[in-house]
Amino acid sequence: MDALAPRTRRNVVRGIAAATASLAFRPADAQAAARVAVIGGGFGGASCARALRRIDPKLLITLVEPAKVFTACPLSNEVIAGLREIDAQQFSYDRIAAEGITVVAQAAVKIDPGARTVGLADGTSLSYDRLVLAPGIDLRFDALPGYDEPAAAKMPHAWKAGEQTMLLRRQLDAMDDGGLVALAVPAGPSRCPPAAYERASLIAHYLKARKPRSKLIILDAKDVIPQQRLFENAWKELYPGMIERVSLSEGGRVTSVDPATNTIVTDFGNYTAQVANVIPPQRAGRIAEIAGAADHTGWCPIDPVTFASKLVPDIHVIGDACFGGVLPKSASAASAQGQACAAAVANLLSGVAPAIPGLNGVCYNTVAPGYAFSQSAIYRPKDGMFAEVEGSATSPVDAPREVRGREAEDAKSWFKAITVEAFG
Ligand SMILES: Cc1cc2nc3c(=O)[nH]c(=O)nc-3n(C[C@H](O)[C@H](O)[C@H](O)COP(=O)(O)OP(=O)(O)OC[C@H]3O[C@@H](n4cnc5c(N)ncnc54)[C@H](O)[C@@H]3O)c2cc1C
Repeated sequence: MDALAPRTRRNVVRGIAAATASLAFRPADAQAAARVAVIGGGFGGASCARALRRIDPKLLITLVEPAKVFTACPLSNEVIAGLREIDAQQFSYDRIAAEGITVVAQAAVKIDPGARTVGLADGTSLSYDRLVLAPGIDLRFDALPGYDEPAAAKMPHAWKAGEQTMLLRRQLDAMDDGGLVALAVPAGPSRCPPAAYERASLIAHYLKARKPRSKLIILDAKDVIPQQRLFENAWKELYPGMIERVSLSEGGRVTSVDPATNTIVTDFGNYTAQVANVIPPQRAGRIAEIAGAADHTGWCPIDPVTFASKLVPDIHVIGDACFGGVLPKSASAASAQGQACAAAVANLLSGVAPAIPGLNGVCYNTVAPGYAFSQSAIYRPKDGMFAEVEGSATSPVDAPREVRGREAEDAKSWFKAITVEAFG
């Protein structure tokens, strides 16, 4: 058991090292002033822009991101449960700008792949030789009857961190002891599926400490969940009788909501909750669709070696927005993709064949303070997609509590490393 924590820690370091090692870029004077625009300053885009800068100081790199401060989702479930403050999740772009990357605080609203220009919300535009799209997800407000943007102000999704995270926290604080919390989980593909069950666990932790007569019900559009036995064992051990999960085959799929009464309707029943956390279906950030890079699924198919869009020339897509096989929609994967994509873009600009990337991803789930487990995997291109290769590891089901405690520490170290990688 002791071997687990060092192994997962090594994986985090190895992920970054693997991507760095593949930066086989040979600068050529002819390409010295190539322009790369990156849209979206989250884990994928910020990591990509910084990796590009490290590879070639001469590249003209522009990062387009409307928010002045980025609010990270990983560990935001702890904010909801009152275990962490939101400012510990927030990162500015000052260090990125200090590295010589032009940071433009605007939303991209238009892309002309023929002219290779990006139109910005203030009416200006910029030109690129290569464009990297990293806009994350958009919530599908057209997919679940009753759940539109105004409904989200009553029934928060908290699936983009920031004001929504704080709204859910305030609702839990205001709830009476004995109230029902309902958590609606969509079918995939979606951003970080295990995070919904981490959230259920940490809300249960909050209820146990502050409102012990309350209950949490998970209304789930899935039958099988990630790390199912680990979650279910933890719930039995830590929160007996507090969490009920209604799976897809038990009628858990949410078919509509009524924000006026805080009611969630499923295949088999209606649930009126004091706090309703509704996570709707998702798709790639809207700008990906505007660029023509998203297909009928709402996600962006990519070439796994270069992250080039399969639909639009000179555009690469990374992070949650892309679809490249079994790659998870996680910060860990987005950061690794950002670094590997930077290497591929630099190589393409200098006429060098891109190296085959190997991406490491690790995902921690914290179910109570000092109690976490993880899953790590390595992905490589196979048959035009990313496939999981040997070396995947998951925390043992029967590990002693000290291992869970060490993994909780590892989760914090991982967050520090990944945010330093992205934001400096
Ligand atoms: C509750 C929760 C917990 C999570 N926990 C973990 C975890 O423990 N580990 C893990 O690895 N992952 C975790 N994740 C997943 C992780 O947050 C995402 O996978 C990750 O943020 C994806 O990175 P990204 O760069 O694709 O998108 P984001 O990080 O969302 O960044 C996208 C950026 O693009 C910007 N943008 C969008 N449209 C435009 C536009 N038109 N113009 C300019 N900019 C634009 C946005 O403002 C945003 O800053 C969690 C997610 C949630 C919801």
